[in-house]
Parts: sequence; C-alpha cells; structure tokens
Amino acid sequence: MEEESKYREGRKRLVEHLRRQGVSEGVLTVMMRVKRHLFVPPHFGDQAYADYPLPIGEGQTISAPHMVAMMCDYLELKKGEKVLEIGAGSGYHAAVIAEMIGDEGHIYSVERIQWLVEFSKENLQRAGYKNVTAILGDGTLGLPEHAPYDKISVTCAAPDVPPPLLEQLKTGGKMAIPIGKYRQALYLVEKKNGVERERKCDVVFVPLLGRYGFKTK
Ligand code: SAH
Repeated sequence: MEEESKYREGRKRLVEHLRRQGVSEGVLTVMMRVKRHLFVPPHFGDQAYADYPLPIGEGQTISAPHMVAMMCDYLELKKGEKVLEIGAGSGYHAAVIAEMIGDEGHIYSVERIQWLVEFSKENLQRAGYKNVTAILGDGTLGLPEHAPYDKISVTCAAPDVPPPLLEQLKTGGKMAIPIGKYRQALYLVEKKNGVERERKCDVVFVPLLGRYGFKTK
C-alpha cells in the first residue's frame, strides 16, 4: 500500500515534468494511469518514474517516458485504432498506446527476442492490459496478417523505413520511426497520395535488426 502511494507520487512528479515539456493533456492522463514500475526490472523500481531509459536486459532498454509521450502525441492516437508496434521490449510503450486506443482498439507488438516477448507479456498481464498482443518475429517485415494499421510505432532505430511497414500502413495513417545509425532522428511518416516525411528531433534508440534493418553480423 505504502509502495503504491510512493509510486503514485513519482508518477505525479513525472507527469508535471512532462507537462512543462509540452506533452498533451490526453497523453498525460494516460501516463498518470500506466504503472511504469510494473515494466522495469524489480531492482530499478525506485527509478521507474525518472525520465530516462533503463536497461531491461540483453543490451535493450525501456525508452524514456518523454520519448514515449512524444511519439504518442505525434501519432495522434484515437480510440478504436489498430496499431502495430515494432520492439515490445518491456511492454511499457505498448501499455501507453493501449490506454490511448481503449478497449475497442488493439495493438500488436512484434519483438525479435523470445525472452522479451515473455517479459512484455508478463508485465502487460500483471498491469491488466487485454488489448495488446506481443508476438515473436522480425518486425521489419511488419505483421501482414492483421494489416492494414492506422498507426505504426517503431521503437528501435532503422536504416530507413522498411518497405513492408509502409505497405501495411493505411492510407491516411501515420508512422513514428527513428532513422539512423550513429546519428539518429525521429521521423513522422504520413501515407497520403504520396508519402510525406517530417524530421522531428534527434534521438537515441537501440538498432532495429533484421531483414530490412541493420545486419546482426
Ligand atoms: N517499446 C519498448 C522499448 C524497446 S527497445 C519498451 O517500451 O520497453 C527496442 C526493442 O526492439 C528491443 O526489445 C529489441 O529487441 C527490439 N527489436 C530490434 N529489432 C527488432 C526487429 N527487427 N523486430 C522486432 N523487434 C526488434
């Protein structure tokens, strides 16, 4: 009980910090609701509401809260949408998206590391999310069986937009994707008649590996 109120205080401070950074009220409401401490390894519990990335194992990280918030704002997520995430990791970012799209929406999250698929599933289940499906696979190929998607959120840095992801995005849909190797930037890609790309800001993400990603060896 005392733990819970300590975490709630941490969450409140984090949300106030994010508000000063200009995050929308819609996303802030959701960030106040999602218990990030259920998604970080237990020994990082007291840092769960600090605004920086944390290691989750195998060289991977749970993104900083402001990055999750910013990407959600850029995507303009709405109730009932179908979303594809690449890189489930801890499942935290997926949980924030799940809250944004509500029970009538669904998010599919593809993760290439088996252990992290299990980790994200356990965390999401413990936190009570039923509208998220974590799946093992190479996310650079997307997830054709549930396409097309209203929104796509890529949480690792790609060499360029993987063609299957663009194909699986609805016309009128948006994709947030970090691009670059040593220097990375976050792009908002919109599929209209053509494809528009807007460079948003410099970022640091772990690499997207796979068929249309960086090579493992
Ligand atoms: N969204 C996560 C952050 C994950 S870090 C969270 O909220 O915790 C990026 C993740 O992308 C890592 O777990 C990594 O294993 C995964 N990844 C890298 N390349 C991938 C690929 N081709 N397909 C699926 N996942 C990939």
